[in-house]
Amino acid sequence: MSIIGSAACAGSSGSGASSPAATAAPAERKYLLERVDDAAVVQLYADGFAELPLKEKTLVWHLYQAALAGRDIFYDQRYAHGLEMRDVIEAIVRSKNAGIDPATYAEVLKYTKLFWINSGPFNNLTARKFVLTTTPEAFAAAAHAAEKAGARFPLKNGETLDQLLARLQPMFFDPNVDPMVTNKTPSAGQDILASSANNLYVGVTMKDLEGFKEAYPLNSRVVKDKGRIVEEVYRVGGRYDGEIRAIVQHLEAAIPYATEPMANALRALVKFYKTGETADREAYDIAWVQDKASPVDTINGFIEVYLDARGIKGGWEGLVFYVNREKTTEIQKLAQNAQWFEDHMPWDPKYRKQGVQGVTANAIDVVLETGDSGPVTPVGINLPNDQAIREHYGSKSVSLTNVNDAYDKSTLPEFRSEFSWTPEEAARATKWNALAGDLTTNMHEVIGHASGKVEERLKGNPQAAIKEQFSALEEARADLVALYFLPDPKLVEIGLIAKADQDEIVRAEYEAYTRNALVQLRRVRQGTQIEEDHMRNRQMIVRWLMANTKAIDVRSRDGKTFYVMTDPVAFREGVGKLLAEVQRIKAEGDYSAAKQLFETYGVHFDPKVRDEVVARVDRLHLPSYTGFVMPRLEAVREGGAPSGAIADVKISYPEDLSAQMLEFSAATRDLRQ
Ligand SMILES: [Zn+2]
Repeated sequence: MSIIGSAACAGSSGSGASSPAATAAPAERKYLLERVDDAAVVQLYADGFAELPLKEKTLVWHLYQAALAGRDIFYDQRYAHGLEMRDVIEAIVRSKNAGIDPATYAEVLKYTKLFWINSGPFNNLTARKFVLTTTPEAFAAAAHAAEKAGARFPLKNGETLDQLLARLQPMFFDPNVDPMVTNKTPSAGQDILASSANNLYVGVTMKDLEGFKEAYPLNSRVVKDKGRIVEEVYRVGGRYDGEIRAIVQHLEAAIPYATEPMANALRALVKFYKTGETADREAYDIAWVQDKASPVDTINGFIEVYLDARGIKGGWEGLVFYVNREKTTEIQKLAQNAQWFEDHMPWDPKYRKQGVQGVTANAIDVVLETGDSGPVTPVGINLPNDQAIREHYGSKSVSLTNVNDAYDKSTLPEFRSEFSWTPEEAARATKWNALAGDLTTNMHEVIGHASGKVEERLKGNPQAAIKEQFSALEEARADLVALYFLPDPKLVEIGLIAKADQDEIVRAEYEAYTRNALVQLRRVRQGTQIEEDHMRNRQMIVRWLMANTKAIDVRSRDGKTFYVMTDPVAFREGVGKLLAEVQRIKAEGDYSAAKQLFETYGVHFDPKVRDEVVARVDRLHLPSYTGFVMPRLEAVREGGAPSGAIADVKISYPEDLSAQMLEFSAATRDLRQ
């Protein structure tokens, strides 16, 4: 499970107050590179990479290639037309000097940047489609100019450029064709799969799946073909054969440079990619979770289930990272005390786990994120998602230190002042939100997701009972654990915060969490409901507290709405009550209670308030979400020959989204088909 990052968003952004000396950044380097509509584009830095020994750099190099090799899988999973559309707009963007009308070129470039940031034509947070704002005629003229200048388009056999453009016109221009990538709450009578435009199901409804048992739940596309339901398995020889073969080849090249526990995990992953069998995926999960000490690690596969309205199919992602030692010491204090926190959870003692084990917590610096994890990246990750493996073998948590740092460094100060009721509140946010955000992210991952147990009869699989409500419920549970323990003296005792600061840190975090329920509405510019699971969970918690405690006031001044946290004691008490109920719902698999909780507090909102928030952020030009430009690696070969042994791996920072995305797309072009 991952926490999606967002600037100035409690529980998901921020960094420690100090940077480790070894990774001190040049003062004047660029974080915020550009604004594209309501997205910010930010450069990610991985300062510790240059100091890694050559063996680890070489390992990272091969894993980086493996993460790139799968990038296009996620584009295709998100939308069946995604790669074709990307080929068309990239052909135009590459033809800057082809005599294309400058206004048209600028529009196509803007659309293409949004397309890259969101891995297709659907907004990452709202799940809604965005469209080209040129006319189809101007778009066609640009394409023809590009073709004349030598650009290649993805023409099917015998197809002309005009036929291609006509075929894709509804996808580029019509917001009502495939309007949402994932729709968990369609209007009455509509099916969650049929009304979701993603490519995880073809012609299949929930009704079709009644009584159908998937053999490959996580890693298959389900297709209805002449009335028959078929699973197309993601594996070597199956769907995405070309990409998966390349991933396997790079993983195999990485194995000689890995520690023994990591090599075991990589071998298990290769086996899973070859067979696609659930038993092999489980073996991989176990091997991965048992590798607790390797300095370099990767996540590569079909992992998170947010893209699927059913919450079953995994979106492909690739992450490569190394451990940030200094920051890791802090997190490990939480992990070492995991049993203490478990024993003090405010829920029914029968849902407390005994012998909490294997919570491995690392602060990491990311070198590359692709697919479901980049360019829009989480700030914290806890895996594996398989509940049975979590209960028997534990889980690994990582906090993405350099991502948090880049969020913090690129946040505009107006963000905090505009939505704070008093200057003191804004000052508290500036002073403490980075530290508090780091701490709550770590608690969310390390003692949140890893906690609690469910009733035996659910067989370690509460997802199956709680269905499309599960992800949001589980994110809420982890957030609530962090909010609940933040004021606890235990945090002072284990040295995570100073006693003198704790009250102010708690207040700053509760205020920020409360404000966020209002501020996050800026991301849902159309419609009146929230789709993204982390946003649902945060909305639900704050609105539940408003309805059931006296901790939060809704105030207004000069026609502006403010959510004001007034009573931290009442806030914490409410959090404890809600957490007990959320854990009960998960443990019992109480679907109807989960649905009612989110339908009442987490999904629907007042569009008038949203419009006001949007007007306020637009007036200040504040971004709604962030896409990251990743570090770039280059292998230096002995003798300069492509086949020579790797003598060094150089890291650099492109500071240019377009250059990086065009380079990535070119690198994997041959793997398709
Ligand atoms: Zn989470």
